[in-house]
Amino acid sequence: SLRQKKKLTIRWKHYIIVYRCFVNIHADKSGKGDKKIMKFHSFLIKYGEIGIKGKNRYLFEDALVRQMRFALKDVDGSFYVHKSYGRVYVDCDGDYDYEETVESLKRVFGIVGICPVVRLEDRGFEQLKKDVAAYIGEMYPDKNKTFKVEARRSRKSYPKTSMEINCDLGEVILETYPEMKVDVHHPDIRLNVEVREEIYLFSEIIPGPGGMPVGTNGSAMLLLSGGIDSPVAGYMVSKRGVELEATYFHAPPYTSERAKEKVVDLAKLVSKYAGPIKLHVVNFTDIQLYIYEKCPHEELTIIMRRYMMKIAEHFAKKDGCLGMITGESIGQVASQTMQSLAATNAVCTLPVYRPLIGFDKREIVEISEKIDTYETSIQPFEDCCTIFVAKHPVTKPNLERIEKSELNLSEKIDELVQQAIDTVEIIKVK
Ligand code: ATP
Ligand code: MG
Repeated sequence: SLRQKKKLTIRWKHYIIVYRCFVNIHADKSGKGDKKIMKFHSFLIKYGEIGIKGKNRYLFEDALVRQMRFALKDVDGSFYVHKSYGRVYVDCDGDYDYEETVESLKRVFGIVGICPVVRLEDRGFEQLKKDVAAYIGEMYPDKNKTFKVEARRSRKSYPKTSMEINCDLGEVILETYPEMKVDVHHPDIRLNVEVREEIYLFSEIIPGPGGMPVGTNGSAMLLLSGGIDSPVAGYMVSKRGVELEATYFHAPPYTSERAKEKVVDLAKLVSKYAGPIKLHVVNFTDIQLYIYEKCPHEELTIIMRRYMMKIAEHFAKKDGCLGMITGESIGQVASQTMQSLAATNAVCTLPVYRPLIGFDKREIVEISEKIDTYETSIQPFEDCCTIFVAKHPVTKPNLERIEKSELNLSEKIDELVQQAIDTVEIIKVK
């Protein structure tokens, strides 16, 4: 799968770095350089800064730090996520799993780039020159590259200015590796040198997922089925910083315990990006049977969908969610024509977000593979919607007709809805 391929690539890159470090210790080019293994001690986190000035910046950064801590909680190693000098860092003390750390950070919305950092104790400028040459030597076996040094001093008492550091270190690199050339406009390698208490070197940027940290944009209720679409829909809205809750409707004994477990598994996979999800599992059997008994069968799906929306909205409002999310896309099935969407939408007062509305199935599948929900979504378990489904459902429902059919349901439906609400099972997914 795509994920395994990516994992392999990262593992491969990591091994190359480890291998190079190993070779370097033994080759010891400088003849008297110290024998410390160069490893990445920290990650500098780059995030988009547009629109996050002033007070928003703090909210954004605090949420980012919180989500990063959550993402790293199960990773091997001990991590210290912190803000300093207007930047966000992860310090990795002792041994840690590099590959897993990067994989986890790549799932934190708001991160645009992840830079692995080598931290050096400040032992004078002469030592720094050697360390920088060694760093370039290890990181870039192919020296046929252009570069630029970009120094930044957070510690202003350092004896050299940023310009002097740029020039002097540039000179060392040119002397050590004559194949390399300086290009200040479009260098292949941008070597960042940050002078703080320690000295930070970094030059690689691993792309992050972008978006905004979860928790910076309120919360919304996802209608989560066991299909391909709704987990992707949840992912997309949460990417914009929205915290998720979810509601799943099942119909035991027509749907199995295993079908429910599949939905819990999907919620878990989405929560790797979105953070903890409060999942509401609603028993929909009696409502479904009652609608089946009282309403025209070709309208069953639409009427069921309307009751799903009503019930999910009840839980949404109760918890202060500001909207609902579905995985609908125009024309995908009979219940997702423009007329059907209008009929379903009519029961809600909260805005309903449908982030996949203009996507083809193929495009949705692509995202579900990328976020690793696809394999779980295609496991074959029955869905409560499909059990009583008519052979020829209405594709252009008329709202008035639907509302008229619903009159057949009398007050008993309100009791059943209340009963479904009262017997909800809440699962905290994380
Ligand atoms: P999905 O792949 O997300 O199941 P779908 O293509 O099967 O979507 P439908 O079954 O018509 O399409 O469902 C449309 C949307 O309604 C889903 O994306 C989901 O948001 C919601 N939904 C459908 N069934 C359920 C369910 N059993 N529980 C909760 N939400 C549901
Ligand atoms: Mg479905």
